[in-house]
Amino acid sequence: MMTIKTSNLGFPRLGKKREWKKAIESYWAKKIDKAELDQTLQDLHKEILTIQKDHHVDHIPTGDFSLYDHVLDTSLLFNIIPERFQGRPVDDDLLFDIARGNKDHVASALIKWFNTNYHYIVPEWDNVSPQLNNNVLLEKFNFSKEVGVTSHPVILGPVTYVALSKGGDQSFDEKVRTLLPLYKEVFEQLTEAGAEYIQVDEPILVTDGAADLQDITKEAYEFFNEAAPAAKLVLQTYFERVDLNFVGQLPVYGFGLDFVHDNGFNLQQIKDGLFPKEKALFAGIVDGRNVWSTNIEEKKALIETLQSYTDELVIQPSSSLLHVPVTLEEETLDDSVREGLSFATEKLDELYALKQLFNENDDTLYNELKAQYERFESQSFKQLEYDYDSVKSERTTPFKERKVLQDQVLNLPDLPTTTIGSFPQSREVRKYRADWKNNRISDEKYEEFVQNEIKRWIEIQEEIGLDVLVHGEFERNDMVEFFGEKLNGFLVTKFGWVQSYGSRAVKPPIIYGDVKWTAPLTVKETLYAQSLTDKPVKGMLTGPVTILNWSFERVDIPRSEVQDQIALAINEEVLALEEAGIKVIQVDEPALREGLPLRSEYHEDYLNKAVHSFRLSTSSVQDSTQIHTHMCYSQFGQIIHAIKSLDADVISIETSRSHGDLIKDFEDITYDLGIGLGVYDIHSPRIPTEEEITVAIDRALQEIDRSLFWVNPDCGLKTRQEEEVKQALTVLVNSVEKLRQDNTVKQPN
Ligand code: GLN
Ligand code: ZN
Repeated sequence: MMTIKTSNLGFPRLGKKREWKKAIESYWAKKIDKAELDQTLQDLHKEILTIQKDHHVDHIPTGDFSLYDHVLDTSLLFNIIPERFQGRPVDDDLLFDIARGNKDHVASALIKWFNTNYHYIVPEWDNVSPQLNNNVLLEKFNFSKEVGVTSHPVILGPVTYVALSKGGDQSFDEKVRTLLPLYKEVFEQLTEAGAEYIQVDEPILVTDGAADLQDITKEAYEFFNEAAPAAKLVLQTYFERVDLNFVGQLPVYGFGLDFVHDNGFNLQQIKDGLFPKEKALFAGIVDGRNVWSTNIEEKKALIETLQSYTDELVIQPSSSLLHVPVTLEEETLDDSVREGLSFATEKLDELYALKQLFNENDDTLYNELKAQYERFESQSFKQLEYDYDSVKSERTTPFKERKVLQDQVLNLPDLPTTTIGSFPQSREVRKYRADWKNNRISDEKYEEFVQNEIKRWIEIQEEIGLDVLVHGEFERNDMVEFFGEKLNGFLVTKFGWVQSYGSRAVKPPIIYGDVKWTAPLTVKETLYAQSLTDKPVKGMLTGPVTILNWSFERVDIPRSEVQDQIALAINEEVLALEEAGIKVIQVDEPALREGLPLRSEYHEDYLNKAVHSFRLSTSSVQDSTQIHTHMCYSQFGQIIHAIKSLDADVISIETSRSHGDLIKDFEDITYDLGIGLGVYDIHSPRIPTEEEITVAIDRALQEIDRSLFWVNPDCGLKTRQEEEVKQALTVLVNSVEKLRQDNTVKQPN
């Protein structure tokens, strides 16, 4: 009988208690030196390898453990260094500078890694001289041997690497061809050092665009097959299905396929006979992106099926475990919920249980996990009946008529000014919150502090002369976790951190049951702010699509149903704010675009459901209540129609980093609702000039009706310093005041 092996594609870098983050940030703050950083990271790497070894993983990865980001590691390995950083030794300090910028040069761009909330550093090809630098993969591989682990090196494949990069005069294919001999050298060095096989990640092959990349993909892997025949390459894909008709023909040792997020298509193709039986199949059967324990009985059946289609079966998570927290060990959770959860470490147990069952005929762990899963499932966290139909999902009065009523109520000047919601989360704000969370100060004391901040910032906003004010979001740690802590159906963990970018981690709440609003969440702070001013204060909420996207969602009911449950909860809060007299309410949806499925065939369905949920949460208000929304990205193109159908009275969006493109998207469909274009980039500490702001507004007004136009920064200001915010907003308001006096730019309606 065939023995089954287990593998892992990548393990979280963060450490059980975010040791990774702390070490790196301490180094940046010069609190520890390089030697200490190296030592701490080496210890952590050892711990990560050991955890996997202790969980009996047959193939443990190295190369996944990165100082910042694995895409950036690949850039340094092949000397793809942004032009402005060239000429320096290629070392960790260079790596950090490219990732974060330094006083002389801006950082490279950060972009979301496929449809996850992880961000990678975009490689820049302008005037690069590709060559093989220090082979850190080899170092890591050798290190794992010292620790007593036979690891397999992981490297990002050439096609995906080039697809994720930008700049340079060469064509796509030329770039790939430049890299091929360098990859070959890496493969040879690793094989010589004893690597049994090498995992080459090519997730780009699961996207729509893969169809256009077939020739170069074929060329690349045929080259490797001839030039480095000793290297056993496993072509690893994840997050969606591949076209097995094409991929299955590539001359590699084995294929890694995702059987969780493939909508069933990978399995179907295998059943259709498209998998070459003599190749190794690395089957991603345990969800690498969610936190639920696996239905192990179902996986047993899946393995039985797969066995008949390959001579060598390796089971593994569906993707790197980078996207889930490290372990449940440190959590204090009720057993009833805990049994349903599985973080990175626990997922390795699941694989082990299956391996034992098949190879040793030992069902001890298998039965234990199966029983746990069944107990969890039998609890039914779906108890509530929702009457979705009784909640309006459409504002019946058209925008033009609503606007007349809203203008009467709000009485705003020409080109009204506002901000996106948050003001600086200063060290003091964070310290108060931490003290309060750890019971070092009382509720009263914390609330008093928050109130004082609100008051201070209402005064600042009035002083500056903004038109629609905000309370500042001082009571919120994070725009999703805050709601997760307060709504029923969510669980907030203590150490469930996941890397978002660089040293930044987020702690997504876990939605395990029916979502329910039970009491107002934001009314107190908003009303307090409103009591201090005659200007309208905008209520500030996170929308259902974003809350769902930035949480770990339950999987026992359809995703859209979870989203609608959240929508009803947000609707309650919207109504509570309105009832309390708030006239302007913003429902943020910054994650709407990133949730877009990788394959375009699913886009329409996703967008329809997203629009529906947003409208469920915002359509019950009176015509005179003004609904705002906010999104902070600039590639609207394919989703612009959906944005329009949200039917928000005002949308504020980011544009400052991509001017022309965005306005064009909005022009192409004649966007005729209220719109605020971000007129300066809040991600930079730089204070904009009046001229820049005026130019930005003038430019936008050539395309957008002046009576619909709002002026605002392009995102929340929580990461900025107080002084920067005051200065920048003063410049913004001054520019607008001049434009108000200047009638020459006024457009006829
Ligand atoms: N209202 C939020 C803020 O101002 C919006 C944040 C976001 O768009 N990511 O911080
Ligand atoms: Zn934003």
